[in-house]
Amino acid sequence: MALANTGEQPRRYRITAIFIDPDVCTCSQVCVGECPEVLDGNTASGVPRVRDGAEALFDSKAKEIERAAWACPVDAIRLTKQAI
Ligand code: SF4
Repeated sequence: MALANTGEQPRRYRITAIFIDPDVCTCSQVCVGECPEVLDGNTASGVPRVRDGAEALFDSKAKEIERAAWACPVDAIRLTKQAI
C-alpha cells in the first residue's frame, strides 16, 4: 500500500524550550495567534509567556510553535531543540 505524500519531512528534533526576549518583544501578540494553546499573551507586561504545563504540548504543537517563532516580526522567539 502506498503512503500519501504530504510533502512533510519527518521531524528529527524536539522542541525543549521556548524563550521570548522581553527586551526585543513589542507585544504584538502575533505569536499567540499562531499557537494560543502554548503561548499566553494575557500578561501584565504584554510579553507572552509559555502557559503552565504547556511543555507537554511541545511535540504535538511543534508545527504551530515553529510558525509562531517564524511569524514574530522582531525575531524575539528562540526555540531550544534536541535531536531525536
Ligand atoms: S510575535 Fe514577537 S513581538 Fe509579537 S508578542 Fe510574540 S514575541 Fe512579542
